[in-house]
Amino acid sequence: MNTRVVRIDEQHIDDTLIEEAGRIIREGGLVAFPTETVYGLGGDALNPASSKKIYEAKGRPSDNPLIVHIARMEDLPALVRTVPETAKKLAQAFWPGPLTMIMNKSEAVPRETTGGLDTVAVRMPSHPTAMAFIEAAGGYVAAPSANRSGRPSPTAAGYVVEDLDGRIDMILDGGDVELGLESTIVDLTVEPPMILRPGFVTREALAETLGQVEQDATLFTRDSGQAPKAPGMKYRHYAPKGELTIVRGSAAAVTNYINARLEEERKNNKRTGVIATDETIAEYSADVPRSVGKRKDVNTVARGLYRILREFDDEGVDLIYSESFDGNGVSQAVMNRLLKAAGHRMINV
Ligand code: AMP
Ligand code: MG
Repeated sequence: MNTRVVRIDEQHIDDTLIEEAGRIIREGGLVAFPTETVYGLGGDALNPASSKKIYEAKGRPSDNPLIVHIARMEDLPALVRTVPETAKKLAQAFWPGPLTMIMNKSEAVPRETTGGLDTVAVRMPSHPTAMAFIEAAGGYVAAPSANRSGRPSPTAAGYVVEDLDGRIDMILDGGDVELGLESTIVDLTVEPPMILRPGFVTREALAETLGQVEQDATLFTRDSGQAPKAPGMKYRHYAPKGELTIVRGSAAAVTNYINARLEEERKNNKRTGVIATDETIAEYSADVPRSVGKRKDVNTVARGLYRILREFDDEGVDLIYSESFDGNGVSQAVMNRLLKAAGHRMINV
């Protein structure tokens, strides 16, 4: 299959291209598109054959449900049995934006889209190109992240090309994404609502709207003996080819420990990488030192994480050491993805 890549300027959206992309979805094809979080791989959410194609293109297990993307609040009721009061409040506060809500699904949503579940995940993205595309596609676009299964989510169209060229019909290139980590997922079918994946809409922000909100116990632990509540979270989403270890402690202890390890590993002829920040990167003597962003602005770290993880794979490093990112808010999302990439390998110094 020939994959057409077209550049879309979100300030001056080309209606002809959007109309073409929408037609591909309505006819059962696949189009990758930019959102404010990461690039999505879209298909018609109400067409079982389209959802099957998404799993095939990604090489993703078919019990891992897709998120249904909408562009207008009026389109929500058709997807769900009833719109919960909690969903109305959250939509008012955070849509369009990086929040996905789990609700009981209606008959209209095929089980192929929900990985066999009776619930459906719904999000309204804020990216202008995504919104125009979803409307042109008929209003309901099922989309996981637009990477091959087992690779980091794509934060620029070039990474989508790397992973999916020849496997999908079209890629809408909207440049670099704004946020860089996937949406927060909150399950509204349980009481109190439960966070299944941390993201930019933080636990603190959700609690302000909902009162009480819980967090899935498996988000930051290796094996609590429980299965994760979001089926996708059980898969080793992504692991770099090199062995990644997170080092946690005071700034000085972390640099000292990592530099001692780097020296040791060089003697063993290992090629090493470091994930640090603008503030500390100059202190490390790795073969491939990379700053992921500014520690004092965790949003920059979130934006840079998947890009540098891909770079380490390209550089063929054997061992990677990373500073840790502790704290509330967006740091929780960063740490959740980093822990998953590290297979929960973490050392306290
Ligand atoms: P991705 O689109 O790659 O960010 O993956 C979608 C994520 O949403 C996966 O981790 C899924 O397990 C999760 N998800 C989608 N639908 C549901 C659902 N009905 N219940 C729980 N988790 C879901
Ligand atoms: Mg994904």
